[in-house]
Amino acid sequence: MNTENPSSTAGCARLAALTLLLALPAVVSAATDSPEDSPQATSTSVYADAIGSARFERSAIKVEQGHTVESGNLYTRDGETGSLVVVRSPDGAVIARIDEPGKRGLLRVDAQGLASFTPASTNDSRESDAVETQEPMGRDVTISGEHRYIDLLMAFSDYALSKMSVDPLAFAFLQVEELNLRLRNSLVTNVSLRLAAVNIFDVPYDTSIQGLASWQGLLSPYRSLYKTDLNAAYGGWEGGTAGRGYQPGYSSVLGWTTSGSDTFGHELAHNAGGKHCWDQDGRDYNFGHDNGKTKTSLCYGNRAPYFSNPAVRDAHGLPLGNAQTADMTRVWRENTARLTGYNPELAGLRMLVLSGNEDQVATYIRVPGIERLYRGGVVALSQSVGPIELAPGTDEKFTMLNAKLLNAAGSEVLVKLRGTRVEEAQLGWREHMNSNRYLGLLSSPLGLEIQYDARDNEALPVGYYNGLLKLEARRIDSDWTQPINVIVSVRKK
Ligand SMILES: [Zn+2]
Repeated sequence: MNTENPSSTAGCARLAALTLLLALPAVVSAATDSPEDSPQATSTSVYADAIGSARFERSAIKVEQGHTVESGNLYTRDGETGSLVVVRSPDGAVIARIDEPGKRGLLRVDAQGLASFTPASTNDSRESDAVETQEPMGRDVTISGEHRYIDLLMAFSDYALSKMSVDPLAFAFLQVEELNLRLRNSLVTNVSLRLAAVNIFDVPYDTSIQGLASWQGLLSPYRSLYKTDLNAAYGGWEGGTAGRGYQPGYSSVLGWTTSGSDTFGHELAHNAGGKHCWDQDGRDYNFGHDNGKTKTSLCYGNRAPYFSNPAVRDAHGLPLGNAQTADMTRVWRENTARLTGYNPELAGLRMLVLSGNEDQVATYIRVPGIERLYRGGVVALSQSVGPIELAPGTDEKFTMLNAKLLNAAGSEVLVKLRGTRVEEAQLGWREHMNSNRYLGLLSSPLGLEIQYDARDNEALPVGYYNGLLKLEARRIDSDWTQPINVIVSVRKK
C-alpha cells in the first residue's frame, strides 16, 4: 500500500487552508497509528497448547485487508525445524497451520474462542502429482535486485469450501504466507507470492489430470481480468494424489483434504519447474532434497519448511541441497521473470470482497490521499456502474453500484453493491462514496467500504458471481487519481 506524506502534496490546497495545514503533523502521526503500520501479534495463548514445547521464532508479521498474518519457524526440543503461520481475521477468529514433527494440521479458533484442530491427512499415494509441460524453464541469470511479486488467483469450489470450514480469505492469506516463509527460509530474496484474487465456483473438479485442465480453463478469463500470474484451486478429492501441478506452468489443484498439510507449497514448486527428490538424475539441479534427516518441499512424507538449497543447513548441520542435483533456490531465482511476468500487475489499490458461503459481506480498505483538505472521494469509471464525478455530500448513506460480474456460464450480469465513504475513527461518518464533504481537521483517514447483500439483489438467480469492479479515488480541484481494483466473489443463496 502506498502512503503519502500530506505535506508533499499540499501545494494544491488553496491559500485559505494553509493555516489549518500547519497544524496537521501531530494529528497525522496519531491517525496513522493503524493496524497496517503497527501490527499486533496474535496472543501466543491462542496456539500455545497446539505447538506444545516447541519454540516459535517469528520472522514476519503484517496486516493485509484487515487480516493480521504472521509466520516463523518452530524449533523442537529434539532439534527439528517446523513452521507456524497464524492469520487473525478482523472479527478476532484465528486459523493457524502447525507443521512440526509429530504435530501437523490446521488449528481453528472462532471469534468466541472455541478451538478445533484438524490433523493433516496422510496420503500414501506414490502416483506422481506433476504434469510435465512443454513450457520452457527459466534460465535467466540476469535478475535485477528489485523485489518482484507473483500474483496469485486462489479459487475454491463450493464443495471444497463446505468441507474445509474455513474463512476462504483468511485461509488464502495463510497459504500464501506459508509459501513465503519457505522462500525466506531458502534464501530466495528477490521474489514473493502475493494474494491478488480469491474466487468461488460451483464446479465438480477434482485433483485428476482432467480436473487440473478444467480448473485452468475455467480460470483463464478471470486470470486475464485480474492480471494474475498463478492459479491455485481447491476442489474435490476422489482418491489418488492430494494435489497436482503443471511442471513448469502456472496452475495447480488441491483436494479439500489438504487444508491441514503443506501440499500447496509442493505444487507451487512444481509450477516453478521443480521435480521430486527421488528423481534426481545427476544432470540437472531442479530437484528437491532428502539428506537422510530432513526432507525439503519436493519430497513426499514429512517435510521441513524449505526448498532445496546447498547453502542452507538443517538443525543437524547437514546441507539441504546439492549444487549439482538439488538447488530449488536457483530454480526460483531463474524462473522469477517467468513467474512474475505472465501478466503485468493491475495498478492501484486492491480490495477483495468475498462472501464465501454467506450471502452478505462488508469489506473496508483505507484509501490514502482522500482525507481532510483533499476532499477526496471514490467514483466509478462508467455511468452504467455508478457516479463518475465527485459531488457535495447529501443525505445518502451509500452509493448503489451496478457491478458487472460473471455468472456460472461466464456471462456478464449486474450485481448491486453498496459503496460507502467511511471516516475511520472519531466521527465514524458514512456517506455516499463520491462525496467530497470536508469532515474537519480532526477527522481520521478515510476509506471505502464495499458491501454485498443478497437482499439488494432479489431478482438475481441463485449462484456465485465473480469479477472485477474498477473504481477510482479522486480529489476535488486536482488531477490526482488512484485506481481501486475491487475483486468480487459473492454468493446468492
Ligand atoms: Zn509432487
